[in-house]
Amino acid sequence: MTLAELLPSVGRTVADRLDAEAWPPGTRLDGDLVFAGVPAGTLAARFGTPAYLIDEAEVRRRARAYRDALPGVEVAFAGKALCCRAVLRWLAEEGLSLDTCSGGEVAMARSAGFPADRILLHGNAKTPEDLKAALGYGVGRIVLDSLDEIDQLGALTARQDVLIRVTPDVDGDTHRKINTGTEGQKFGFSLRPSVPDNLDRAVATVLGQPGLRLVGLHCHIGSQVSRVDRYELAARRMVAALARIRATYGIELPQLDLGGGHAGTGFDLTGFAARVRVALAYECTAHGLAEPRLTVEPGRAIVARAGITLYRVCAVKRGSSTFVAVDGGMSDNPRPALYGARYTARLAGRVSHAPRVPVTVVGRHCESGDVLAEDVPLPGDVRAGDLLAVPGTGAYHQSLASNYNLVGRPPLVGVRDGVARLLVRRETEEDLLAREA
Ligand SMILES: *Cc1c(COP(=O)(O)O)cnc(C)c1O
Repeated sequence: MTLAELLPSVGRTVADRLDAEAWPPGTRLDGDLVFAGVPAGTLAARFGTPAYLIDEAEVRRRARAYRDALPGVEVAFAGKALCCRAVLRWLAEEGLSLDTCSGGEVAMARSAGFPADRILLHGNAKTPEDLKAALGYGVGRIVLDSLDEIDQLGALTARQDVLIRVTPDVDGDTHRKINTGTEGQKFGFSLRPSVPDNLDRAVATVLGQPGLRLVGLHCHIGSQVSRVDRYELAARRMVAALARIRATYGIELPQLDLGGGHAGTGFDLTGFAARVRVALAYECTAHGLAEPRLTVEPGRAIVARAGITLYRVCAVKRGSSTFVAVDGGMSDNPRPALYGARYTARLAGRVSHAPRVPVTVVGRHCESGDVLAEDVPLPGDVRAGDLLAVPGTGAYHQSLASNYNLVGRPPLVGVRDGVARLLVRRETEEDLLAREA
């Protein structure tokens, strides 16, 4: 039994403060939950529910924090975390570069006017259409991830800067499905000579393509990585790989891209900057290499905490446990089902002094795994029609959303200094029917 259960009044005071780790700094309590200067109730009335809300000032602040912590380092936002025109424009204005991984993301970047020379194209299985979209817009760099792709791209272009993706065999110490830097998963070329398609072979193949200019190496060890020492280790291994390439081919590559994956909370950005710089300087000196230009690729760390989702409660079922069912679910947030991601939620739109009870917040979809948040303390009088707000939904929600059960995807609403504006409208039934033959 928790203290809050023994003493509801204690639970009340504790729960009525916003947990600074979970909620965007621009969110406060003033009767209602106030997001970037606008009450949740007002936002729900204007834009409907469910709705994704994103705090523009917070996104810009996070982008600046990266640029300030890493002077001289290229910061490329991983577009897959939240790919919409307005957000890409904010980040272009903040001086960031952009990672894309499909023709669709390139098209979105292009429609935002994102400078092509600051765009990278990633992907382990780029289609001819992806490559043509990237070449058509003139993206600065393409990150190569298979021998097939090297031949295909070489045949399509007379001059393209490329990096090669490497598997540094560094364990990101994260969920198996998002641990991308180890041997035995699909990304990158191995550093092991015993592996058939290894880095050495990739370099030789690229150098045999007159249309490709090899400018650097790339790695990405995974997502939700909070251990800074993992990046330090990756940096060391990558510099050793650069040294080996120079020894074998006599070329010194000017760029090193250490990928992203920085955890949304609890990632020590200052420590990361310091340790990676020292490791890089030390290893480069040891190998007699000039320091390559560094790129980092945060996605989640820029937008995750800047976003919240608003839902309307459809039903409350007091069974063996209390289920609070909302008008969204795994279609707008598949992350709990995909990787066991954990969320919290709080009542918005009204004040309740009822003692908190633990509830399970579930979605509206036809699967029992459609759970948004477990063991959430909500006021015991929570009822149909109430609003719930879920924090930490700025990354990999809008971009991972589906229209399962033919539920239209939610709108994305940008809020800044008390002004809300629709960035992406809600998906309608006409949208859902529009593709039918
Ligand atoms: C997904 C991805 C990122 C960003 O990951 P986050 O966890 O959002 O920081 C960066 N680089 C590459 C190559 C990726 O695939």
